[in-house]
Amino acid sequence: MNLNESHAVEVVYSFSLQANGRCGIISCSKGDLMMEIEWEMSGVPDMDILMAPVDLNRWRSGQEISLAEQRYILDRLRTWLHEKGIRADIVRPVTHIDPSNRCVRAGCDNPVLEGYAYCPNHYDESLLKLPWPP
Ligand SMILES: [Zn+2]
Repeated sequence: MNLNESHAVEVVYSFSLQANGRCGIISCSKGDLMMEIEWEMSGVPDMDILMAPVDLNRWRSGQEISLAEQRYILDRLRTWLHEKGIRADIVRPVTHIDPSNRCVRAGCDNPVLEGYAYCPNHYDESLLKLPWPP
């Protein structure tokens, strides 16, 4: 048996989408924890649903979610929506990194997404509804 495999902890998030007219929720659960993320139908042709800024601050139980986990959930959610063929406004607009420009976020020295002021991580943070000022 591969030791690395047996010790790897795979955190599984599961999502499901419910629609109610022109809006709805996406339920996100991890084990016994769950939350509901609101969305509304998009009015623009290249987008199906609008979600940003996404509030991933707490599980419904009230338990707080760290920023690192929020970023991770956002990424899992993005992947799930992509697999479902649902186009949402939480995708990164470009994937190409521009190594000649640095992220404008204080203390961050990472290269930016091409044409944007933020690195991929800080771009993702701009999609989150944070409980504190950025
Ligand atoms: Zn950055």
